[in-house]
Amino acid sequence: MTAPRLITGISGQDGAYLAAHLLERGDSVVGTRRPGVDDAAPWRLRELGIATHPRLRLIPLDLADPRACQALLATVQPAALFHLAAQSRVVESFRDPEATLQANGQATVNLLEAVRAASPQTHFVLASSAELFGNAPHSPQSERTPFAPRNPYAVAKHVAHAATQDYRVQHGLHASCAILFNHESPLRDADFVTRKIAAAAVRLARGGGAPLALGNLDAQRDFGFAPEYVSALIAMAEQPKADDYVLATGVATSIRRFAELTFAAAGIALAWRGAGVDEQACDAQGRLMLVVDPALFRAIDAAVLVGDAGKARAALGFVPRTGVAELARLMAAAEQRR
Ligand code: NAP
Repeated sequence: MTAPRLITGISGQDGAYLAAHLLERGDSVVGTRRPGVDDAAPWRLRELGIATHPRLRLIPLDLADPRACQALLATVQPAALFHLAAQSRVVESFRDPEATLQANGQATVNLLEAVRAASPQTHFVLASSAELFGNAPHSPQSERTPFAPRNPYAVAKHVAHAATQDYRVQHGLHASCAILFNHESPLRDADFVTRKIAAAAVRLARGGGAPLALGNLDAQRDFGFAPEYVSALIAMAEQPKADDYVLATGVATSIRRFAELTFAAAGIALAWRGAGVDEQACDAQGRLMLVVDPALFRAIDAAVLVGDAGKARAALGFVPRTGVAELARLMAAAEQRR
């Protein structure tokens, strides 16, 4: 029997898709969860139909505890460790920078040290982030673009990223960083903007509730489809040599455009009027669907984050195929089913 794959953050969007992909191809998966969460299977694993899969084992792990990390690595001896667990919200990182640094920075060091000490043959893949580029003066960003983190989330991921590179160079670990641009799916948490838009579009199409309030409509993001990104994480773990890769679509889409596409998928053609913080969108009957709320603007919003994934395309065969219109359609359809 081959060694299992270990996933931290298995209850999250990427963790769930990654587990499903690994199980489907025949691997055994061990997924870690924060201690103290109730024992019911995470909703995403249920939604993907893998919660009770015989080759899936869920175990509690406190990533803040170096000895617990080491004991786990010594026992599981995984072929690959996908480190996805993180406090993944930029907004929350402003509220609690210290906890974010612990959860995203120190926890990564604990895991790397555990791999080094107890399971050095394990291939380690970090979910790093395009937020490391901050307000990069040039687009698209690639592995050669200098990092300039501009929020506590990015600072913490920078620690994790640098530590991963350091363990690769200093200790010879097979340790790689995936510089992930935004990737969405029906399994996004309800408080992320794309899922908020999808949920509101479906609710308003059924005639219910208040208009959707959004922040900066002109913020541009590179939106990919999560299942395609987790496949690339597996390919990274299976490269002969560890390395860092940008995973992105290379296409920038504004929040405004994503809203138009998602509302259209729910059957509403948005018509815009006004400008700036007074801008609004109505449906064909003139009913108010969307307003701008200045309170939702980020203090510092990255200008245009668009990735150049040429290296991943060449080395990993990473080709994102799901365009943003299809992504919007999938997210609206999932909300309709729910
Ligand atoms: P997600 O859905 O928010 O999942 C995060 C996972 O981390 C969950 O399993 C969550 O557990 C766990 N977690 C949250 N806070 C934690 C803490 N303080 N200590 C330990 N575990 C904690 O995130 P995702 O979209 O799957 O993203 C996966 C990884 O990719 C994250 O590291 C994220 O920062 C990174 N990333 C994602 C994107 C993106 O667009 N999705 C872009 C760049 C980077 P609970 O279920 O218990 O909350």
